[in-house]
Amino acid sequence: MKMTLAILTLLSTSAWANLHLAPPDFVSKSGRSVFVDFKTAQYDVTYDLENKITTVRSTIVFEAEKTGKPIFDLVPNPKNVTLDGVATRVVALDFPDKISKARLVDTFVDPGEHVLKMENTFKANVRYHDNNTFNVSSAFWIRDLKERMFLEQYVPSNLEFDQYQMTINAKFVGVKKIDQEFFTNGVVTKNSPTSWTIVYPDYFTASSLYYHTTRQGSLRRMDYNYLSVNGREIPVTVYTPWYLATSDFKKYSEEIFAELEADYGPWGHPSFVAYGTLPGTGGMEHSGATQTSLGAFDHEMLHSYFAKGVMPSNGNSGWIDEAIASWRDRGYLRLPTVSFGGSDIGGQSVYKRNTDDRSYALGAAFMAYLDYRLQNIGGLKAFLRGYFAAYNHMVITEQHFKNNLEFFSGMDLTHEFDTYIWGTNTPDAEGLSKQSHHHAPMTEAQLKSIL
Ligand SMILES: [Zn+2]
Repeated sequence: MKMTLAILTLLSTSAWANLHLAPPDFVSKSGRSVFVDFKTAQYDVTYDLENKITTVRSTIVFEAEKTGKPIFDLVPNPKNVTLDGVATRVVALDFPDKISKARLVDTFVDPGEHVLKMENTFKANVRYHDNNTFNVSSAFWIRDLKERMFLEQYVPSNLEFDQYQMTINAKFVGVKKIDQEFFTNGVVTKNSPTSWTIVYPDYFTASSLYYHTTRQGSLRRMDYNYLSVNGREIPVTVYTPWYLATSDFKKYSEEIFAELEADYGPWGHPSFVAYGTLPGTGGMEHSGATQTSLGAFDHEMLHSYFAKGVMPSNGNSGWIDEAIASWRDRGYLRLPTVSFGGSDIGGQSVYKRNTDDRSYALGAAFMAYLDYRLQNIGGLKAFLRGYFAAYNHMVITEQHFKNNLEFFSGMDLTHEFDTYIWGTNTPDAEGLSKQSHHHAPMTEAQLKSIL
């Protein structure tokens, strides 16, 4: 099975040229609007401690395949925008049928490589402390059940289909030196008493990166290595507020590592960083990183295999990883029927960017049924293990997931997907989805409180 999946990998196009995964280009009121392929993004983030203002200067190198105005996203308003060294402006962009919003560079580009620069300020999840010490807490927390809650909350980003190398240069001005600590899933270098650089892997998307900086020593921290099943020492960092024990997270992480590696193979990331937060709340997954309560820790670690290992290309494919994680949460049930009549959790607009929140309950029920269908060939877990091995660090669509499932099983699953994923919502599907996820997502105030 690994061999057949490996052959499919060879047939796919070059690794991070992901424009074929973008939604279709379209004509907006500003003219022909085209999705582009980000190559690199450099974010120079300046924390001004005197004026308590956070500014980002961004330099994005991208490639256009067709002539048109380039689409990207940034929630705060950009200023001082240049394209290939020439001043231009950025306008608001509505997606077809007003499914979502983004931004458009108001200049037509020809196919080829271009350089986009701009500035913005952001206030989301940043706090300046000035009581005893001048320090800053800042985090790029993300959410996936609401739209426009990935990196675009803070810095100019592409949509989730794209993978590109990101660098953050964090600088603190207004002080001669500052004791900041960084928790990230990139490589951190201290350049001076007030500046740091974090370089992230080139396979990251707008929902992969983990970035949290706070006053040195203000959070409990424990670093250790986990010996992976393949013999690799995985550097792990768990950190918590003073009222939680890092040792609880360490102990639990070791249990979950062992379980997940036994089921799906060696951990697929260079390291693992986990911020243990408010009991009773949910968490959010990043690539080899999470911010989570102890209760949702296992669910979020599973997402380092499916969601941030094998990564969804858009809102429609977001159900897959929540389905797998919830199927595991519910004890990997194997059921001969699907417990609802039909739904469209993966069959909505191609421009939709967030995951349908019915994906937990309905997706888990669908996975339980697939596991039943695949029981004679090792069940769904056997497929997922191979799928992860072949497509870790790659962006996939739900069609890709279906094609590979069919290839693995030799079954035609068209009717099943057309009914339960791309179909019509039935009343029992609504009823089932009410029992949805057991960990409530954090509120904005809670996200700010854990900075
Ligand atoms: Zn989840």
